[in-house]
Amino acid sequence: MNQIRRRLARKASEFFKDWSVPRQLSGQSAVAEAARSSLSEHQRPRLEEADRIGTSICPFCAVGCAQLVYAKHGKPIHIEGDPRSPVNQGTLCPKGAGTLGMMLSELRVPEVLYRAPHSSAWEKRPLDWAMARIAALVKQTRDETIVDRLADGTPVRHTLGIASLGGATLDNEENYLIKKLLGGGLGVVSIENQARI
Ligand code: SF4
Repeated sequence: MNQIRRRLARKASEFFKDWSVPRQLSGQSAVAEAARSSLSEHQRPRLEEADRIGTSICPFCAVGCAQLVYAKHGKPIHIEGDPRSPVNQGTLCPKGAGTLGMMLSELRVPEVLYRAPHSSAWEKRPLDWAMARIAALVKQTRDETIVDRLADGTPVRHTLGIASLGGATLDNEENYLIKKLLGGGLGVVSIENQARI
């Protein structure tokens, strides 16, 4: 019984020694020594292990929220909203908050994969090769399908052989350039964008 009493007394004494209120009442400062406890003594800054912090933009939508990317030994370990951004003021929506998972996912395809017509196999190709092939096919399709005039003689100078569907990440300015290039430059009529922000 005495042993239990002694243990309880010791626990109570430790509790009151660690609790900030009695220490404040005994004169300690609430923002200095009385704010410390055995728990806070062992806490470390959340991202102490990061050796580098970079800035980025969320890749998911046209809001363009700014991000801080924390890295350790060259590998990202955490991404959060940048509080300096007037756009998102340090916040990220659930999609943007999952950027690190997207970056490090084993399912991510980091290179260009090409499947030739009638083939069932994917081949790795350089990005430059893919861009040149896309440009060549767009030019070829446009040249083959351009219509100068309709049957009644109305001049149109357009092609219905190409359509463009933009992604949600495209912002106002990018969509303007796409419209200028495809519509005014190539005569494409079907131009749409997924973004609705
Ligand atoms: S997906 Fe969310 S976090 Fe990313 S830019 Fe859009 S609103 Fe911002």
